[in-house]
Amino acid sequence: MIPYGKQDITQQDINAVINVLQSDFLTQGPQVPLFEKEIKDTVNADYALAVNSATSALHIACLALGVGKGDVVWTTPITFVASANCALYCDADIDFVDINAQTYNLCADKLEQKLRHAKVNNLALPKVVIPVHLCGQPCEMEKIHILGRKYGFSIIEDASHAIGGKYKGRPIGNCEYSDITVFSFHPVKIVTTAEGGVATTNCKKLAQKMDLFRSHGVTRDESLMTTDAENHGSWYYQQVELGFNYRMTEMQAALGVSQMSRLHDFVAKRNELATRYDKLLIDLPLITPLQITDSYSGRHLYVIRLKLSNIELSHQQVFNKLREQGIGVNLHYIPVHTQPYYQNLGFKEGQFQESERYYQDAISIPLFHLMTDEQQNKVVNTLTKILT
Ligand SMILES: *Cc1c(COP(=O)(O)O)cnc(C)c1O
Repeated sequence: MIPYGKQDITQQDINAVINVLQSDFLTQGPQVPLFEKEIKDTVNADYALAVNSATSALHIACLALGVGKGDVVWTTPITFVASANCALYCDADIDFVDINAQTYNLCADKLEQKLRHAKVNNLALPKVVIPVHLCGQPCEMEKIHILGRKYGFSIIEDASHAIGGKYKGRPIGNCEYSDITVFSFHPVKIVTTAEGGVATTNCKKLAQKMDLFRSHGVTRDESLMTTDAENHGSWYYQQVELGFNYRMTEMQAALGVSQMSRLHDFVAKRNELATRYDKLLIDLPLITPLQITDSYSGRHLYVIRLKLSNIELSHQQVFNKLREQGIGVNLHYIPVHTQPYYQNLGFKEGQFQESERYYQDAISIPLFHLMTDEQQNKVVNTLTKILT
């Protein structure tokens, strides 16, 4: 089976992890700060906080922005459930903004309409909006940022798909148009630490809060303490928030540092493969991913949309035939509001129609750094046989 995604682990990566295992620190040593420096230098942000997953990063990002009971967070239905769950972890409510029909990202125009509608009707405005750079293609951040100023919400970019990408020529993660950006380093993503995530920000206060939340709410920094530490011994620390243990290990961080040295190559190769797909699939009854001109996508996923009216088979039949013939296709994502858990919260099918249309005909076909031309040809030839 040709997988839809796969990590690329070199001897250099393996050595980096082994070196840590033979060192004094398995956790809370020098590798995590090194990895954080690597990330913030790469994406051009002032602060980077490494944690054990992007899910944890989303959680502490929401907490740092003060999301709590009575607040509402808005995100897109076409994302992994974690982008929405983070609001629920904070006892806040969640709502969705439908996607743009061409980019499949949270639609900035629909966001504006929904904000205007909420304002006019005295409904709750969002405390935080979480745009997701689906497949690595950046959302319309400049426009979302302007809306944030106008309607008073904060912005968390879920860039789990997007490390190494650029928006208007500048790296995703620089937080020029957001408060916090979150990356994932799960093995299917562009860079991996096995499990892991990072939150970047340019705001010292947010960085300090996220630092507390990722490690029990405990600090040794006197400036963050409620009373003078002077009367206490040098062992003294204070718990000032209810935090978690979301720390990244030294093995993960060392793997991350080693992987990051190949980031440019990872993203360049993904773009090369995607451009090759664009050409090879041009005559088939499907839509290839539109790329907006002022962005450079990390190309985490390559999603095709079947033109079902020109195909004799159903979406499911095409999907199953591809799997049967060794093509490890997938579907990113089932609209979050249609999940049973979210239906129980009151969401209904039919509420976000562009997302539901997307779900009727989208398929993610294999794309990963080590993919060979032969593997890619096999994907194309199999698709061609099934669709024509
Ligand atoms: C993978 C992913 C996450 C969660 O990442 P983890 O590191 O596995 O917690 C969140 N959002 C999106 C869009 C993702 O693709």
